[in-house]
Amino acid sequence: MKEACGVFGVYAPDRDVAHATYDGIFALQHRGQESAGMAVADGDTITVVKDTGLVASVFDDRTLFGLTGSHAIGHTRYSTAGSMDWTSAQPVYRPVGPSGFALAHNGNLTNTTELSEQLGVLPGLELTDSDTLAELISRSFPHEAGGVDALQSALREALPRVEGAFSLTILDATHIYGVRDPHGFRPLCLGRFGFEDAPEGWVLASESPALDVIGAHFVREIEPGELVTIGPEGVTSEFYVDQGSTAEHLCIFEFVYFARPDSFLRGREVHGARRRMGQLLAEQAPVEADMVMGVPDSGIPAAEGFALASGTPYGQGLVKNRYIGRTFIDPNQSNRDKGVRRKLNPLRENIAGKRLVVVDDSIVRGTTTRALVRMLREAGAAEVHLRISSPPFKWPCFYGIDTPTRGELLAATHELDEIVEYIGCDSLAYISLENLRSAIGVADGFCDACLSGEYPTPLPVTLRTSASESSADARAGAPIDLQPALPGV
Ligand code: SF4
Repeated sequence: MKEACGVFGVYAPDRDVAHATYDGIFALQHRGQESAGMAVADGDTITVVKDTGLVASVFDDRTLFGLTGSHAIGHTRYSTAGSMDWTSAQPVYRPVGPSGFALAHNGNLTNTTELSEQLGVLPGLELTDSDTLAELISRSFPHEAGGVDALQSALREALPRVEGAFSLTILDATHIYGVRDPHGFRPLCLGRFGFEDAPEGWVLASESPALDVIGAHFVREIEPGELVTIGPEGVTSEFYVDQGSTAEHLCIFEFVYFARPDSFLRGREVHGARRRMGQLLAEQAPVEADMVMGVPDSGIPAAEGFALASGTPYGQGLVKNRYIGRTFIDPNQSNRDKGVRRKLNPLRENIAGKRLVVVDDSIVRGTTTRALVRMLREAGAAEVHLRISSPPFKWPCFYGIDTPTRGELLAATHELDEIVEYIGCDSLAYISLENLRSAIGVADGFCDACLSGEYPTPLPVTLRTSASESSADARAGAPIDLQPALPGV
């Protein structure tokens, strides 16, 4: 699985907003590594700089010192819709009104086809869903004027027509805006520079560590269906849909894998939730072992929790190449063993002859896990017992996470004993959905569609068809090579 973008925004006329945005999106680099960009405005003009690559390769001091203004938005992108080239980099700019506006989007829309038809976008013209959203907003712009009233009015008209997942930061010449979809699939929080009674500026970010790095204080999460406007008059808030029609469905995988461990979501630090997942997993699926180890990075806190609850010593069994990006292992890469070895190397003295509990966050296709187990056995592990801090991943995501079709999801098609045989481990257990929720400490308000098949929104026919077709493939088991791992390797 891969993340799908980080968004950021800052309104602080007395600060260097370009450098603040750089630091903010650098802190959100884990959410997308394909392209980075920012838009800066000074009251009259908007300047957009974006390119493919990591934040540090797109921006240098020379570029940043040339970007002066009172407010800015930023974006890091991983493509789940649209191509992986410069044209898909964000922020997206639309020259409507006196200054135009720029938009940064995290999430995936589920009614892009319908919206494109309504907009009369030429068939064959490849627009990302973020482009479609920007086009919809720009067509909703009142003709007579630009400025805050005009953009607010366009957003009020356009946003209720959009379905799916969208956390947005938007900028025009004078203001920044923060938007969350009515289900709140993707996170977005508000921060403040200075004291509560004398704020010196405001910040919007996908995750709270992007506030910490620039010295801003966390204020609150943006509510599902909320539109906040930030400018010289401070922060104003409104709901662009009836509040009765909103219901939070924050992606539960933000807690399991996507978010940084130092992020606060729903009032809880992600690291603590991951540790509790390991603790509950140890109670749910105990096993006799000599050492508990985690798969870096997101499996580590759950492994610590497992060790704590089980009394089995915790140890390090794998070293991760710290210079490797999270996207380095391409899901289409045929040689998964090679990909895993580039990223992880075993600590042979630490694992040889030991019965290991190996804690990881998820199994999607199973190919990476299989390569990992093989590597540990080659390094001398006596037994490998896998414990997974998410329930079986059985359904594709349509809300902004890049997942394979249902036919490629290992747990969608195969029973536990078949998965154990395929992966080549000695035992395997997944945390239950109930225990996952307990570990987070919040019982409801999550999307868990990829685990339960219960999608919070109606899916359009095209997506429903793709889900059901791929589930037919899944039942047939066609795309998955079920050759068991070589015994004793
Ligand atoms: S389907 Fe899964 S990955 Fe997608 S938003 Fe829901 S919980 Fe997250």
